[in-house]
Amino acid sequence: MTDFILQAEGVTKDYVVARSFLGKPTRVVQAVRGVNLSIAAGTTLALVGESGSGKSTLGRCIAGLVRPSAGKIRLAGHDVRQLSGASLLSFRRQVQTIFQDPYSSLNPRRTVGEAIMDGMVIHKLYTPEERHARMLGLLARVGLQSDHAKRFPHQFSGGQRQRIAIARALALEPRFIVADEAVSALDVSVKAQVLDLLADLQAEKGLTYLFISHDLGVVRHIADRVAIMAAGELIEEGECDQIFEAPVEGYTRDLIAAVPRPDPGRRRFRA
Ligand code: ADP
Ligand code: MG
Repeated sequence: MTDFILQAEGVTKDYVVARSFLGKPTRVVQAVRGVNLSIAAGTTLALVGESGSGKSTLGRCIAGLVRPSAGKIRLAGHDVRQLSGASLLSFRRQVQTIFQDPYSSLNPRRTVGEAIMDGMVIHKLYTPEERHARMLGLLARVGLQSDHAKRFPHQFSGGQRQRIAIARALALEPRFIVADEAVSALDVSVKAQVLDLLADLQAEKGLTYLFISHDLGVVRHIADRVAIMAAGELIEEGECDQIFEAPVEGYTRDLIAAVPRPDPGRRRFRA
């Protein structure tokens, strides 16, 4: 059990989308239904499926941003719902998220430097001088320059903003990152560079990724294991090569049939 950094057990999420005038739910969307999965430390699990299949909802449940209607999320064996005080703060530090649109996590009125230091301030980590030094180190690590610290998010390209979001996530030294369509909006060559950065960071820091994507071409290059979702349910999960070479479910076969074949034996994503 302790081999697995993260586990979902029977995770279900219902959204009430309409209520009667007495407050009784009249329409419920079952976004996620009874999902079980485990992600081993230092590996990448890709979560794939069509739009609306529940990937983001499951990712948000796992990241602690959405409370499941039923089921459990465990991090290193601990039920996330039971956490409070210092242990909840520690969970919030260890699990970070990167979304498709970094505008949703970057305040347009705060400089990039402030954005990267925010988490360290909230978690009361380091002295102000140390935060500043760490922020500059993080900018360099994600391929940006120290003078970028004083600029605002709108002054950057999409790829640079995603690097800023990565630096912001890394500032808290997380163990686990949920990346939800994190490279989906980027041009092919920029996408390749950001994926390489994520792969390098994983190798360097032993990070664990839940990589949510509808882009199977990308998934094939970066995932250790792949989980397929359809209509809120996990329908197949396995080693990346097995899923692509010998999928069990007809649904998975249809999904990957449309993906162009990459160069065999290449691990890293290249444009
Ligand atoms: P995906 O990321 O695979 O596109 P989502 O998790 O975003 O799927 O959505 C799964 C289902 O849940 C969809 O039917 C979506 O409309 C619904 N849904 C997602 N978030 C909410 C919400 N906050 N309120 C109501 N319904 C939602
Ligand atoms: Mg989504």
